[in-house]
Amino acid sequence: MGFVFFNTLGREKQAFNPICEGKAGFYGCGPTVYNYAHIGNLRAYVHHDILIRSLRRAGFEVNHVMNITDVGHLSDDADDGDDKMVKSAEERGKSVLEIADFYTQAFFYDTGRMNITRPSVVCKATDHINEMINLIKEIEKNGFTYSAGGNLYFDISKFPSYGDLALLKLDDLKAGGQTEFARIEQDENKRNAGDFVLWFTKSKFENQALVWDSPWGRGYPGWHIECSAMSIKYLGEQFDIHAGGIDHIPIHHTNEIAQSEAATGKKPWVRYWLHNEFLVMDKGKMSKSSGSFLTLQSLVDEGFDPLDYRYFLLGGHYRSQLQFSFESLKGAKNARKSLTDKIRSKFANPDNIDGVNDQEIISHIEDFDKAIEDDLNTPRALAVLWGLLKDGPASPSALAAIFDMDRVFGLGLEDDLKNNKNADTDESLAREIEELIIKRAEAKKAKDFAAADNIRQSLKDRGIILEDSPNGTAWRQI
Ligand code: AMP
Ligand code: ZN
Repeated sequence: MGFVFFNTLGREKQAFNPICEGKAGFYGCGPTVYNYAHIGNLRAYVHHDILIRSLRRAGFEVNHVMNITDVGHLSDDADDGDDKMVKSAEERGKSVLEIADFYTQAFFYDTGRMNITRPSVVCKATDHINEMINLIKEIEKNGFTYSAGGNLYFDISKFPSYGDLALLKLDDLKAGGQTEFARIEQDENKRNAGDFVLWFTKSKFENQALVWDSPWGRGYPGWHIECSAMSIKYLGEQFDIHAGGIDHIPIHHTNEIAQSEAATGKKPWVRYWLHNEFLVMDKGKMSKSSGSFLTLQSLVDEGFDPLDYRYFLLGGHYRSQLQFSFESLKGAKNARKSLTDKIRSKFANPDNIDGVNDQEIISHIEDFDKAIEDDLNTPRALAVLWGLLKDGPASPSALAAIFDMDRVFGLGLEDDLKNNKNADTDESLAREIEELIIKRAEAKKAKDFAAADNIRQSLKDRGIILEDSPNGTAWRQI
């Protein structure tokens, strides 16, 4: 059947046809590294991961680019509020770069613990200021900008399709109207309410920590331009898929499209826009800037494995809002445990796998493919996995199919089974050594020193050293 994705641009499911056959260029908006990622943010990255894993499993060569925002992201996406990085650095008494490094590492530590595949390219905004300046020059050359109050603005009235992604009307956006912009204190330099800053020179952040020279004066970039500049650099002027949370539709991604297409003149900049719904708590939004959020570590501190949270996320479709509670996380933990327990008990010997080769199993794989290809329906795909586990045979072929499905789920099922086997091996080795220690003690008691020495030597040959003391004999592996 092939992949079908719900494209926000057009609001319909569309067959995935990449620009280059067999390849997929993918850009996912990355973290703003002024604080830990919260578990809502991690939902977005698990969604990207499922997409990438699914495409790779289907044979696509995926180039996955992720930005790290370490400059210019104000607390409101529409140029209002404080600079998130600067504020965090001030509060913590550190430099902006120290804060960025610390939270970037923390981010990849968390994504690693959740088995989220590392992107092919990770690019920091501060390393790409030249690319941003060059892109802004193109936008300016093509007549989409104006300078006011020291800042360079993008004029949305010059870009007729502005707002298409968000299904917003340009006329409303010009005036502010019933849109995001109505609630924001208006920047009087803006000609239209929806205009946005491409380059700041003068602003309320006079002591901005990071500033660069530019044709428009010493200053720093607006937030949105980094994603346009870096995606174009690494994926080309047109590419296949762009993703992020639904909060990015009305401003950030709308502005990214306007900038990119204004600069290159090529349309569409991105063919497929995938947006994940929010993870919510107590019917409220989880927000990093408000400080009221849960981190992955806080789940670990409550006794959960990061993969329990991954399993929890797989149980909801990425386009449905997901309500988080510790009760439901506990449900996911129990379900994951019964999944791994069942695999362990059903498949005693994980070594003897030579691929999926019988028709019954192939039909399970086909059901799985259908679920994943249908806009990444992980809840349905999980049901297929459970069906195979419950009703399928205990054959190597069935186990191969389970591992194949887990290339998408990323639950580490193969490692779990092998580690469990190693754990069994460790346990049986320990039992054997304890028995030999008893036999050696008995041999010594019977004054059969040759037999006792033989036991010690045979263990030493296997790298196990016996240490006698008045309290008995201990052993250690070397
Ligand atoms: P940020 O670090 O704030 O730029 O956000 C990183 C990603 O997480 C973006 O794609 C956001 O759209 C997404 N995001 C933010 N909050 C949530 C949430 N509660 N649930 C799901 N995704 C979210
Ligand atoms: Zn972005």
